[in-house]
Amino acid sequence: MSGASMCRNHPDVSAIARCAGCAESFCQNCVVDIGGQQYCASCKIMAIQGKPPVMEEATLPCKEADDAIKYAIIGIFCFGIILGPLAISKANTAKKMIALNPRLTGAGKANAASIIGWVVVVLWFLGIIARVSGR
Ligand SMILES: [Zn+2]
Ligand SMILES: [Zn+2]
Repeated sequence: MSGASMCRNHPDVSAIARCAGCAESFCQNCVVDIGGQQYCASCKIMAIQGKPPVMEEATLPCKEADDAIKYAIIGIFCFGIILGPLAISKANTAKKMIALNPRLTGAGKANAASIIGWVVVVLWFLGIIARVSGR
């Protein structure tokens, strides 16, 4: 019975799965589950590289984070008092959506947007104070 169902890398460990790429038997430690298929270490790399569309579908850019950063950047130049708070609220929505759905990306953008949003609001208020006290 020797060799029939032993791991290819570990001759003393019984195999639990066959690699979907090379059809060799492997033990628990040697196989990786990719999209419901078991792959060995060397086929895993090919499996990942051979499926870029699947990997891209797995993550979605969060639209709210994109909007937030757009508003924040425009707010630096004009309409800061409107776009600043808008960017902050969009960024908060984006952060909530990303927290609920791990497939969404853009957490970094959302954080940046809320920081820029606050800076825009603060600068706008400082601008008002400067104008008022300047008179
Ligand atoms: Zn393999
Ligand atoms: Zn093994």
